[in-house]
Amino acid sequence: MKKIENVNLEGKKVIIRVDYNVPLDDNLNIVDDNRIKESLKTINYCLDKNCKIILLSHLGKIKKEEDKAKKSLKVVAKRLSELIGKEVKFIPATRGPLVDEAVLKMQPKDIIMLENTRFEDLDGKKESGNDSELAKYWASLGDIFINDAFGTSHRSHASNVGIASNIKESCIGFLIEKELDNLLPIINNPEKPFVVILGGAKISDKIGTIKNLISKADYILVGGAMAYTFLKAKGEKVGNSLIDSESLDFAKEMLEKSKKIILPIDHVLATDNSTSEYHIADTINDNEMGLDIGPKTIQLFESYLKTSKTIFWNGPMGYYENTTYQKGTKELCDFISKLDVTSVVGGGDTASCVINMGYKDKFTHVSTGGGASLELLEGASLPGINI
Ligand code: ADP
Ligand code: MG
Repeated sequence: MKKIENVNLEGKKVIIRVDYNVPLDDNLNIVDDNRIKESLKTINYCLDKNCKIILLSHLGKIKKEEDKAKKSLKVVAKRLSELIGKEVKFIPATRGPLVDEAVLKMQPKDIIMLENTRFEDLDGKKESGNDSELAKYWASLGDIFINDAFGTSHRSHASNVGIASNIKESCIGFLIEKELDNLLPIINNPEKPFVVILGGAKISDKIGTIKNLISKADYILVGGAMAYTFLKAKGEKVGNSLIDSESLDFAKEMLEKSKKIILPIDHVLATDNSTSEYHIADTINDNEMGLDIGPKTIQLFESYLKTSKTIFWNGPMGYYENTTYQKGTKELCDFISKLDVTSVVGGGDTASCVINMGYKDKFTHVSTGGGASLELLEGASLPGINI
């Protein structure tokens, strides 16, 4: 893994794998352009070095032909162009004459963006399956490969590992460097007390991360739907709350092994998640579901956070898609924003909450990677980084 500062980029044709997997609404407006903004440092650095810049990214998943219309990178090229104050030429193809001609015509400081790399998945998963012919083709377009897509760095795809294996020189960009600088100390050497906040929906996707964090953290505060799996494993009544039944045994084992896990003591309850009619109680009736942590739990969690020196947070505290149930997540954001701590957020939904609620700048680091940040905290070595 070489860093971008250690590569001679002057006048070179660079392929940058960026992560422009941004949320789009039904009218194809970009809902959150954070990932585009976070990519600017590497692109501007390459412009300063008079590079010709070829951008590659995926956007969502492409399973059938109809998916293409709503997953084109065209709108992203337009937004990038506005942000960077320069033309970004969008090429509506992933390979072939359109791409070859555009690359041939490039002048120093030109930027082109190819179409969504996962359009190649329709033809036998060529991108996601790291097809060697596709990887060789993309690698042939440039002199140097820069991986700056942290969000996909836990995957071996043609547009990251594939290109890196078929090009003379590869490195990681500034975005990935920043992610590593902020995430690795959390797992290798956190300043203590180290408190982890876990929430969200499922436990099963996060078992490795939970195991590793439990051995490093002083306390794990569990909210969100994840808490109901732990509460059920403890034998408490959780009514219709969302639980992850395949993880009940794991939750039980963790509770028996570790006294570090702190669970909610009251809940915001409703009969279904679409209503805004709720009440707050310590116990859950059969026809109710827990949709947010209650005020006593917020206080309890804050009492642990107050004395901490490092905080890592993954998973919202409630069903935040309904604004009625955002309070637990928002209050913790607000409380952490006033502390003098190292605070790191990982996870796609958690990052969106923190950004949309207006707290991005109050945290030490908000990771652009969901699965990738969790795999890194699991102690895994990520294929897209070890290039
Ligand atoms: P991240 O993407 O940050 O890793 P997850 O994907 O694990 O987070 O979890 C986010 C999801 O968890 C959201 O859709 C949110 O609505 C859901 N969630 C959190 N708390 C609850 C709850 N009490 N009941 C139902 N869903 C919940
Ligand atoms: Mg998620």
